[in-house]
This record gives sequence, C-alpha cells and structure tokens, in this order.
Amino acid sequence: AQPQDPDAPIRATDNDAALARLSAVKKNYLQDAFVKDLVPRAHLQPSRPPLINIGTYVRSHAIDLLVGEWLQMAKASGTKVQIVSLGAGSDTRFWRIETGPAKDELAKYIEIDFTEVTTKKAMAIRKSKQMNSALGDPEKVQVAGGGTGLRSPKYHLIPADLRAPPTDSLGPVLTAGESTEGGPLLSPSLPTLIIFECVLAYMSPEASARLLRWFVDYSSTGPEGGGILGCLVYEMFNLHDAFGRVMVSNLQARYVSIPGAEPFTTLESLSKRLTDEGFSAARALTLREIRRAYIEQSELERISKLEFLDETEELDLVLEHYAISWGLYLQNPGSSSSWGH
Ligand code: SAM
Repeated sequence: AQPQDPDAPIRATDNDAALARLSAVKKNYLQDAFVKDLVPRAHLQPSRPPLINIGTYVRSHAIDLLVGEWLQMAKASGTKVQIVSLGAGSDTRFWRIETGPAKDELAKYIEIDFTEVTTKKAMAIRKSKQMNSALGDPEKVQVAGGGTGLRSPKYHLIPADLRAPPTDSLGPVLTAGESTEGGPLLSPSLPTLIIFECVLAYMSPEASARLLRWFVDYSSTGPEGGGILGCLVYEMFNLHDAFGRVMVSNLQARYVSIPGAEPFTTLESLSKRLTDEGFSAARALTLREIRRAYIEQSELERISKLEFLDETEELDLVLEHYAISWGLYLQNPGSSSSWGH
C-alpha cells in the first residue's frame, strides 16, 4: 500500500481482527479451524492479552447466537436464508456455518470488502484445502474480477468500497443476474441478514445510513409482502472523552478514528440508527450486559480458567464501550418474528 493512502490504516484493522481471533482460538476461548489459513505465519503470531481474548470471545459468542437464531428461524419456517457480511475482512463465519449443522439453511453467503482485502482473501482461500472444499463442486468455483473476488454456488467474495453510493456500486452487483440460477445474486424474496462486524465506525454516518437504507428498500421489493431483513452491527461506542481522547483500552489493537464517524454515544443512538433507516424494530446491548446475561454460567466458568485475568474491573469498563445492535425489517407488518428476544 502507498504510505499516503488514507484507507490503508482502515484495511489494516482487518489484521488486528484476524490476529485477535487467532489468539482467542489458540487459547481455547473459541473454536475455528479456518482462521489459521487466513493469517500468514499463524503459528508464529503472538497471543493477545487476556482482556482482549475475553472481549473477542464475548463478541463472537453474541454474534454466533444471533446468527444461529436467524438460521434456526429459517429452518422453522421452511425457507433458506441469505447472509451478507459487509467489511468481512478475514472472517471465517461462512466456513463455520457451511461445515456445521445449519449448512442446509444457508442459500447464499456474500462477503464484501476493499479490493486489496478481497484479493488477499481470495488467494488464501484458494490455497487452503479445507476452505476450498467447503465451496462445493470445484467446477463451479471461479476466481472473479481478475483475482479480486470469488464466485461459487453459495459463497461470493466481492470487492467494493462501501462508502460509494449503493445505487451505483454495490446495488447493481447484488441485484444483477446470477449465472447459476438465473435470479439476482441477492434475492429480495429470501430472508436476508446483513452483518457489519466492526465496520461502520470506519464510515461516515451518512454513508452507513445510505447503505442500510438501500438494503431496507431492496427487501421491500420482496414478492407478496414477504421481504424480511435482519441487521446485526458490532461497534465500539462512546470511546472518547470531551477532549477527543480514547478513554478505555481498546479491544481492537489499533483504533482508527474517522472524523465525524462516531456520533453514537449511547445504546439508544445505536438502535435508533437502524429504526431511522426503516427497520421496524431494533435493540442494542453492551458486551458487558451480554457477558452478564447471555452467556451460560458453565461457559463463563470454563473461560475463567483459561487465563489469569488481573484486570477484572477493567474488563467491565472496557466491555461497556462495545455493543451489538440488531434490527429487523418486515415488509409485511403482520408477520411476526422473535429473532433476538
Ligand atoms: N468484519 C471483520 C471481523 O469482524 O473480523 C473485519 C473487521 S475489520 C476491524 C474492518 C473491515 O472493514 C476491514 O476488513 C476493512 O477493510 C473493512 N472496511 C472498512 N471500511 C470499508 C469500506 N469503505 N469498504 C469496504 N470495506 C471496508
């Protein structure tokens, strides 16, 4: 990357996310057989401090719960679902779902990131036997966009800048006809979950709003009032004091501050961001609340034995500044859903 490229530090946050995940896996907080294939020299990478490992664990656990419920909901209603991960970086969620019990509930999984990130990921996937084999019939797996993306029956890796107006950039790609089945790549008639895991903080609120609105609008074109859209956001919030200094130690190794990108200082403002763009209902919880109320006691005991944490008070202080918010849009207000209750 060129040194003056202003997006280079934003892309570099993906290395931090991948290294944090790898560290939590090596220390047995999480299970993920795939992350090591996406991190160069994975066996040589140093572990993160316990506080970061626990933060990574709570964040992943919470997102896994919500994604798992989304897939279960599909199963209960006899439909398949689509997942779109925006700013997916080196995330391995597709492979974890595809090699797990909910595989059949998944119709499509689409990942989007900057070209540099998707190019590296496409290469790493092609080099990994286990990741390749989860993509299905090798005849139907294609490198796309001159090596910047991948296309397979379920999994699609697409380069795009999420800040560009979706009607000109991402929209046409997602709604364009897909060769294998003839319909659009992203169907407006299947329940779709969009995931922004530690991504929206790197965009202006206007660009995030535009993107959220595009997905709501597209879902509202679902046939017979059937459009269903879920949105899941993981975000840091209220990190700065009145002087603009970062107040708490950071779960991300690097914090890239984008001017004006962090107007969200309360949990209410995080869920309001979703309802403002058309979601029918939304909720938000801090990682501190999630750790207290949504992780089984046996799991808490298990992870408490993995490493010695000498900053237990700091843990709560830090987890309070990270939140998961989620919203649901139902084109037909009469239909009901208990997702995330
Ligand atoms: N979601 C992944 C995870 O949680 O492991 C990666 C998180 S990483 C902190 C942020 C990711 O968002 C990076 O991969 C970065 O390249 C991507 N990103 C940020 N702004 C973006 C933009 N405008 N367009 C595309 N990708 C973007």
